[in-house]
Amino acid sequence: MMLHKLVIANRGEIALRIQRACRELGIQTVAVHSTADRDLKHVLLADETVCVGPASAAESYLNMPAIISAAEVTDAAAIHPGYGFLAENADFAERVERSGFVFVGPRPDTIRLMGDKVSAIQAMKAAGVPCVPGSDGSLDEDDARNLRLARDIGYPVIVKSAGGGGGRGMRVVHSEAGLLNAIALTRSEASSAFGNPMLYMEKYLERPRHIEIQVLADTHGNVVYLGERDCSMQRRHQKVIEEAPAPGLTAQQRQAIGEVCVAACKRIDYRGAGTFEFLFQDGEFYFIEMNTRVQVEHPVTEMITGVDIVREQLFIAAGQPLSMTQDQITLQGHAVECRINAENPETFMPSPGVITEYHAPGGPGIRVDSHVYNGYRVPPNYDSLIGKLIAHGETREVALARMRNALAETVIEGIKTNIPLHRRLLEDPQFKKGGTNIHYLEQKLGREHS
Ligand code: ADP
Repeated sequence: MMLHKLVIANRGEIALRIQRACRELGIQTVAVHSTADRDLKHVLLADETVCVGPASAAESYLNMPAIISAAEVTDAAAIHPGYGFLAENADFAERVERSGFVFVGPRPDTIRLMGDKVSAIQAMKAAGVPCVPGSDGSLDEDDARNLRLARDIGYPVIVKSAGGGGGRGMRVVHSEAGLLNAIALTRSEASSAFGNPMLYMEKYLERPRHIEIQVLADTHGNVVYLGERDCSMQRRHQKVIEEAPAPGLTAQQRQAIGEVCVAACKRIDYRGAGTFEFLFQDGEFYFIEMNTRVQVEHPVTEMITGVDIVREQLFIAAGQPLSMTQDQITLQGHAVECRINAENPETFMPSPGVITEYHAPGGPGIRVDSHVYNGYRVPPNYDSLIGKLIAHGETREVALARMRNALAETVIEGIKTNIPLHRRLLEDPQFKKGGTNIHYLEQKLGREHS
């Protein structure tokens, strides 16, 4: 039995992505939206729409009672949270399930376990996942103990918030002199920003890559890994370009870490799509966090595996088994994704407004995941992501060549986008070589501005 109707509790490109998967499966869609989003593509295409509040996300896309009543009045079966907004809110998942709807995601207690990074790391360690050397559990207020801990770990260390997210609430400490002050500052930030003063400490890795493993787990005990993604091209901890597979990773390394993630999912009885994020340095993986939702960069994995991750999420939510086993998953070629943001490519300031001219790229191996169209107005109220360009080819070189063409073909006028930045990055010798670390992009941008 498939779900008959689903509420898409999100906006923009991911809402459209979820709607497309639903349509293929004959699931009716309900678009819940804010007053600023009446013209979103998926809202215009939805079977039913419910306005859940004003432009402010706090009063619309984060408005739990309004979203749950939208499911009630439309007689929907399930709610898909997408990414961001309520996707990793355990209380929301719990309220959805208690109201009698299917939450397309893990069980609420799993979201809670993984949402607190201290408990997540403890659970992963217990499940045999390699973690960054660090404090076992949270830091207390005992200065002498914290100084001893940092000395044992070895400087530099990074002080992180258990409730942190989006790259906020962390501080790198290079020597003993700065430790106690850094702990005090991060603790007060953590209480005000995340409502959780809990901190932990890790060894600060100086030149890691960001490599993450995609998993799918159904409710029948089947778990698979879909290879990895390299998301090392980051600015301010935000991913800019992602690719799969990770340049230079061997089949043995992939299989070893993939099997560790599968075993961890079985151990915590994981359900749904999920991503284990690792730092990777000198051939070793170090777990940093798990994302319990579909990710922005999921298409690169879809392109090389042929697996539709959102469709599998819907199968899992409907109680059906995964449509593939591990030995049916093979990696074909290489895929790269550029996140297209409505922003000034020099200053990175958001650039909302009306798109006066729009032409999407095309050709072999090109995929465009975007909700924008000619005349669409990008509202100023939300994230600046307006779409993703994905290129697939038999080799990394072919994928990059196709991406260069696609970026050159794309026309978006009326607003500024980061396409000029992507075009420069696609010509960068180190990026072309592959395997740059997470600091590379910022260092490059820093060099260009000095
Ligand atoms: P968030 O949930 O805020 O994204 P993460 O724990 O995933 O927090 O860390 C975000 C980013 O911070 C990582 O992608 C990496 O760039 C950097 N980082 C986190 N922990 C470490 C560490 N131990 N050593 C070096 N860099 C780190």
